[in-house]
Amino acid sequence: MKSVCLLGSTGSIGVQALDVIKALNINLLAIAANENIALLERQAREFKPSVVCVRNEKYYSKLKENLKDCNVSVVAGEDELLNLCSVNCDIVLNAIVGVAGLKPTVCALQNKKNVALANKESLVVAGEMVMNIAKKNGCEVIPVDSEHSAIFQCIKLGRPFEVKKIILTASGGPFFGKTRKFLENVSVCDALKHPNWSMGKKITIDSATMMNKGLELIEAVWLFNKKPQDIKIVVHPQSVLHSAVEYVDGSVIAHFSKPNMRLAIQYALTYPNRLPSLAGSFSFEDYGSISFFEPDYYTFSCLKLCELAIKKGGLYPAVLNAANEKAVELFLKGRIKFLDIEKLVKRAIEMEHINKNLTIESVLELDCLVKKFVEGLC
Ligand code: NAD
Ligand code: MG
Repeated sequence: MKSVCLLGSTGSIGVQALDVIKALNINLLAIAANENIALLERQAREFKPSVVCVRNEKYYSKLKENLKDCNVSVVAGEDELLNLCSVNCDIVLNAIVGVAGLKPTVCALQNKKNVALANKESLVVAGEMVMNIAKKNGCEVIPVDSEHSAIFQCIKLGRPFEVKKIILTASGGPFFGKTRKFLENVSVCDALKHPNWSMGKKITIDSATMMNKGLELIEAVWLFNKKPQDIKIVVHPQSVLHSAVEYVDGSVIAHFSKPNMRLAIQYALTYPNRLPSLAGSFSFEDYGSISFFEPDYYTFSCLKLCELAIKKGGLYPAVLNAANEKAVELFLKGRIKFLDIEKLVKRAIEMEHINKNLTIESVLELDCLVKKFVEGLC
């Protein structure tokens, strides 16, 4: 059984990953999170990793004090978090939210670790660089995002030149079928009510704006080495067909399962092996009928913004991501309205300053600049 380092252990994916780790009796070497030290402490006591890292140094002394009776090394700060990516594990599961996940992804790959990647933002902001680093170091990036996990599995059934199209499914989120007029006044509470998935707040808002599907399109471009026009987004409200691959002969190979992230997390951890999982069996009769629709690009214009950003290439996806992270934060704080999210992202990607080379430093520098720019617009 592989040994794992889990980054973002207190989040939605992190907690579900620990369910999987417990069920499969996987060796957990290290955990890290930003600041929820009460949960970090409980996790440290239950799973007994060798190292616990709190990214926000403000909480270090309290966590260290609370865990003084445990045989665990307590560390804090970004450098220590990056050090975890070089511990003697087989796989790093990156479940950090946002651009904060980029350096850990890169660091793990540079240390020749396979990465089970939930942090889609790493690929959105610097996908080409991340995949090149993986290749250079002989490592794999194994997707945890349910759609990409599905595609990863379906695409292995043919050869690269036999793939015609990737079909990326979207639930449509809580506002599927609604008009722009309706979206004008939706509340934070309405936007946080996802019909099928219980997730962290940022990705739940991204699902409501459908920015999430646009980010996933960019994620798929880099993971599967495809052009944006070779990826078709299809809305499928039941979220049981997690995505599919169409081959040149017209065959479509699709992946079905109950909507349960533990399955995708487990597959990323046990790949290339399959083991019984906590997700349970899928039965078609439970659903009766399932449906598919074209996305509504007019109402959910974030999808178009993502297509534009990936077509422009370079640092544009990083700008889009930064503007979105800031806009979602402002929306969650009640400082802007729902439709302002897309307006702010649009303003940011219209800026004409984005022709530097793509490096980790340029991505992170621009990330700060764009977040300030967006804040300044409100
Ligand atoms: P979440 O907000 O529930 O958890 C985020 C985790 O990241 C927390 O443990 C937090 O402490 C940690 N974190 C935040 N900032 C950090 C920093 N600067 N340094 C270190 N740790 C930090 O988020 P989530 O819903 O679990 O999503 C995590 C990632 O997985 C996101 O990229 C998301 O898009 C992706 N994802 C999530 C789901 C899901 O079902 N939740 C599905 C697919 C993909
Ligand atoms: Mg997804």
